[in-house]
Amino acid sequence: MSRIRYQQTAIPESDMQGASIETLALRAGQNRTPELEHSDAIYPTSSFIYGSAAQAAARFAGDEPGNIYSRFTNPTVQSFERRIAAMEGGERAVATSSGMSAILATCMALLQSGDHVVCSRGVFGTTNVLLQKYLGRFGVSTTFVRLTDEAEWQAAIRPETKMLFLETPSNPLCEVADMAFISDLARQQGAWFVVDNCFCTPILQRPLEHGADIIIHSATKYLDGQGRCVGGCVVGDDKTMEEVYGFLRSAGPTMSPFNAWVFLKGLETLPIRMRAHCENALALAEWLEQRPEVEEVFYAGLPSHPQHALAARQQSGFGGIVSFRVKGGRDEAWQLVDATRMISITANLGDVKTTVTHPATTTHGRLSPEDKEAAGITENLVRLSVGLESLDDLKTDLARGLDQLST
Ligand SMILES: *Cc1c(COP(=O)(O)O)cnc(C)c1O
Repeated sequence: MSRIRYQQTAIPESDMQGASIETLALRAGQNRTPELEHSDAIYPTSSFIYGSAAQAAARFAGDEPGNIYSRFTNPTVQSFERRIAAMEGGERAVATSSGMSAILATCMALLQSGDHVVCSRGVFGTTNVLLQKYLGRFGVSTTFVRLTDEAEWQAAIRPETKMLFLETPSNPLCEVADMAFISDLARQQGAWFVVDNCFCTPILQRPLEHGADIIIHSATKYLDGQGRCVGGCVVGDDKTMEEVYGFLRSAGPTMSPFNAWVFLKGLETLPIRMRAHCENALALAEWLEQRPEVEEVFYAGLPSHPQHALAARQQSGFGGIVSFRVKGGRDEAWQLVDATRMISITANLGDVKTTVTHPATTTHGRLSPEDKEAAGITENLVRLSVGLESLDDLKTDLARGLDQLST
């Protein structure tokens, strides 16, 4: 008798053991309905029904697994959670309504009043605001340190330090942290080591393999990759993620099933997109480095980058973000931005379309002049999130502005 292959609606997790990340991106976590659809199903429902009063009681008591309400669980959202967890090599993921709510949920679940956080100075601007202003109000204090200064990390640790938080590579200067070092520091202190893996995605870097406890994603960026939805997730071990999930089901910043479906589609092409982003970004960084109007290029794929060797060890690619200083100041940087005709002027990143930003007056505009100085956010700095247009067309668009600048 021939074997009926699709009698089960969910692909058994055991079938995915040992699969490569390209395969996991396409197939991990799919949850088929009895219709046996090939693509993922969307479950646009707020609640779920029960076969009996006794079953409802068992579900609410947690004695029987199953869906209750989409603030808690939703099958499309769970597929996304299982897929991204498999790709990061984590036990479990918890999906959230945005990248910021992933960070908030992590902090709310794991920290309490009196706790202290050490965070790298170059983190996403809103992360800075969340930690300093809002969590600060509830008695959680944060010390900001230079991402690459190991002595500064060490010196910032206090008895009450409960979390070390960083992004690597940093935004916008592509500085790279040695995760093994920070992980050791966190272990000694008994603190959580949290990595925002937005820039690399699991395709280029898997922080759990370098000693991180928890990974944060803004799914809004590369995971979607086509600028459609806002979302996020947290990845880690079962026990820790149960805490994060506990906050999420109580506070409510959950991911919508439609957005989860878009992110599932995004994950399918993530491996191939990330490779293409890296290839275009490296070629563009090399070209910019040769331009006489450009003072300095920041991209870890360039041998001139101070942490090139570390990045090559820790990452399997250098990512799609390239920053550079033009000769001059704000006028020259704005002239370059304004001369583009194709590249989108927007602060978003991780899109298949190339975007250009002037960090000093947008993403990092809220920093004080001293903080900008410390973070290297000068007025002549321009950031590109390199997309998948042809390299020639990107060069043509950037040359419009560069050609106008004096050398
Ligand atoms: C965009 C971003 C966030 C916040 O994500 P949202 O989805 O916009 O809430 C967090 N970290 C990094 C590195 C980001 O780029």
